[in-house]
Amino acid sequence: MKIIMFCWLVYIDDLSEGVHHAGLSLFMDDVALWISHPNPDEAIRLLNADLDAIYSWSVFNTVCFDASKFHLFDLGKLNFSQDLMDTVIFGGSHPQWSSHAKFLGATLDTKLDLLRCLKDSAEKAESAQWRVLNHARQRTGASPATLCIIFAAYVLSVMTYGSELWIFQLKKHFSHKGSVRSKYRANWDRLNDVYMKCARRILGAPKKACTDAILIRLGWMPLYHLLVYRALIWYVKGRKGLAGPALQGLIHDMQDRDSKHWKSSRFFKPASQILSHLAELDPDNPDFFSMDIPMLKTRLRNLMYVDLTDSWSKSSMAAVTHIIHPEWRPRKLAVSMHSRFSHVMYNCLAVNRAPFRTWLYKIKRSKSKLCRYGCNCQEDFSHVLFFCASVIDERKALKACCTTNDVPFDLKNIMTLPTLQFAVERLLASFFSRKA
Ligand SMILES: [Zn+2]
Repeated sequence: MKIIMFCWLVYIDDLSEGVHHAGLSLFMDDVALWISHPNPDEAIRLLNADLDAIYSWSVFNTVCFDASKFHLFDLGKLNFSQDLMDTVIFGGSHPQWSSHAKFLGATLDTKLDLLRCLKDSAEKAESAQWRVLNHARQRTGASPATLCIIFAAYVLSVMTYGSELWIFQLKKHFSHKGSVRSKYRANWDRLNDVYMKCARRILGAPKKACTDAILIRLGWMPLYHLLVYRALIWYVKGRKGLAGPALQGLIHDMQDRDSKHWKSSRFFKPASQILSHLAELDPDNPDFFSMDIPMLKTRLRNLMYVDLTDSWSKSSMAAVTHIIHPEWRPRKLAVSMHSRFSHVMYNCLAVNRAPFRTWLYKIKRSKSKLCRYGCNCQEDFSHVLFFCASVIDERKALKACCTTNDVPFDLKNIMTLPTLQFAVERLLASFFSRKA
């Protein structure tokens, strides 16, 4: 296959020789050319001249380019007349004009707001989410670590592709709670819903659980932060010349001249602003451009979590989660579980949604708030973990586990330390073995 591809590239390599007016990009079997001219008639004349040269090349080299697969589209504001557009010709046929076209897998549209690109990602993510959801049932699902691998391979990869093109347009200011611009909102919500649904189901949390609590329990950034983080890495790579000299030249030219183009750029300027903002969050005020890429990734990721922790500390949602996870930071997820059900209960407790009677009473699914084992006191996480007599043996084992590991027997340790996970799950499994 590699040889076939390589031969094809050698074969098509001199296609550009006849093209004198247009810019030309060849990437594998994707060919794109672009013309820029202030006069519409002249723009079309130059385009036709180059298309004619390509047609001659194709006849000479016996390669058939199917004109019906061409996408012609106008990115500028020249307003071509229909008559003029109809004069574009490739070997006797007239290629169609359209409002959008794919280039290297990303959909570009005439306004270049990349709305269509976001919509495509949302649709693809929606149709791929079953790969996670089918394996994330409450009683028979796989472990969070396994589900995360499936998610990253099949769903996240679809969400991230091409996102660098539009992510900085999504909000006016870089902020977790900031609102999304109205034109992106509907499609962004679709994409983010897939992300949050997968996140929730990986943990086994019920619907309407606090979204921040779910992400914190997983140690994930919100989708917006994740996509910004990835785009920032690309920006630094571009400026450092790691994405080729052309992009590096473009970035430096635009920035040096402090041009109108820089100010209106949809990628470079916002990227540089967010980098400055993140640098200010770090007491060392780091220079991201002097770091190697692995170091850059670590520093940037940490600063993203600093920004998120700041937002989390101001939130009053999910009181239990605040005690268990006072900081928003990456987490290592469980590879093994006592059982999927007990593990789901363990995570539900961490996000404030375990089916204890105090909660069930509140949502009218239980007639009483009192402990199901007849303790005559409210059934909540504190009663079950620290006091309820029905799980006294499991609590003893858990306490012994704390002593062995030399850690205090408190909520934060119980709910976060991997060495205590199985003992906690056994306690919860035993408690929930009786129906509410
Ligand atoms: Zn009890």
